[in-house]
Amino acid sequence: MERVILIRYGEIALKGENRRDFEVALKRNIEQSLKGLEGITIRRARGRFFVEGPGLERNSEADALDRLSRVPGVVSISPCRMVPNDVEQIAEAAKEIMGEFIGTNRPPVHGSLSGGLERKNAKTIAFKVASKRAWKGFPLTSPELDAKIGSFLLRTYPELVVDVHNPSVTLGIEVREDGAYLYSKEIPGPGGLPAGTAGKGVLLLSGGIDSPVAGYLAARRGIRVLALHFWSYPITSQRSRDKVVDLVRILRRYDSCIRLYVAHFTEIQTRIMEKCPEKLRVVVMRRMMMRVAEAFALKEGALCIVTGENVGQVASQTLESLRAIEEVTTLPVIRPLACFDKRETVELARKIGTYETSCLPYEDCCTVFVPRHPATKPGLEDTRAAERALDIEELVAKCVSNIEEVPID
Ligand code: ATP
Ligand code: MG
Repeated sequence: MERVILIRYGEIALKGENRRDFEVALKRNIEQSLKGLEGITIRRARGRFFVEGPGLERNSEADALDRLSRVPGVVSISPCRMVPNDVEQIAEAAKEIMGEFIGTNRPPVHGSLSGGLERKNAKTIAFKVASKRAWKGFPLTSPELDAKIGSFLLRTYPELVVDVHNPSVTLGIEVREDGAYLYSKEIPGPGGLPAGTAGKGVLLLSGGIDSPVAGYLAARRGIRVLALHFWSYPITSQRSRDKVVDLVRILRRYDSCIRLYVAHFTEIQTRIMEKCPEKLRVVVMRRMMMRVAEAFALKEGALCIVTGENVGQVASQTLESLRAIEEVTTLPVIRPLACFDKRETVELARKIGTYETSCLPYEDCCTVFVPRHPATKPGLEDTRAAERALDIEELVAKCVSNIEEVPID
């Protein structure tokens, strides 16, 4: 009996070449995610990946499961026992798995207050067996195997009852050519596409709540994220930069290839302060960010810009503002959160683990420069006129040439 982790992956619609690319990238990303765990190998077999090896036995199974549950493209994972395709051995493995489940989920025995029937129910665990015969050479059909193993388990454990509609535990059995895989847990993964399969994108990453979530969603859609942070030292502090480093560290748990770049933005912001009308400062600043991001994207071979913008939340994110911002780039601007409610974004931020860090109070360049009454509907003509006092080309070129990559340990 061998310990194995079974990985299910998705996007059933993918065919031919696309599917192969998907699988190659997913395997590479799975390997990356398990880096540092010794004695583990990854094998692919007909629509599944398997993680196996002596390393799993040495207590690293929980760690491996935790890491795998975050890899984009993974639909779900199950820690399994693998045995040869032999009914006796399958029954033995079923006994062991259900024994473990009962051991950790033993039903409480209530005192005399509960009536007879309730008391009986409280002592039972409802289960079912769900077999899948992926290898047709196996002598029993799936319903036959379900019945055989189910009745064996009923005889073995008196606390079990069968409930095929509402079981508290399902014993899965996947019969494949190389053996049978048994499991009682199916842990959901993020789904989506393996990071990197869609090409690169530049993520505008602030220290706020939204853009890290946008970065996660982009990575989950196959985009290899190059995070670009605009930093206005000393107007904004070293701590605001460290916060972004921490955010990238968290995002790297989903895609360890995410990179962080810092663009020094102080000069551009200062010029905007000096030369542009207060009301239009924010939209001009965003346009400058877009220009720098586009030039950087072209340099790095990235195909899109990703932001955490949302329709209508603040003055700089009305449709009029978004239009004025987008005017300066020909790259697709992807806004994964465009139509989210804040509540939904916060929920996702909590789930992926960025929320707490995002809430730390260090100021961002935007917060520092936001005028009291920004234009909520900046016209294109007014905006273009507002920037005429800037030497845009020179400022952008200088900013791009000073972008530095920040190593993340
Ligand atoms: P966030 O929570 O991501 O900061 P927000 O709702 O606070 O978003 P803004 O601060 O107006 O909105 O920023 C809109 C978007 O512009 C951000 O989601 C981010 O993509 C980008 N952005 C803002 N500030 C920066 C920055 N300093 N560096 C990089 N990108 C930025
Ligand atoms: Mg912000």
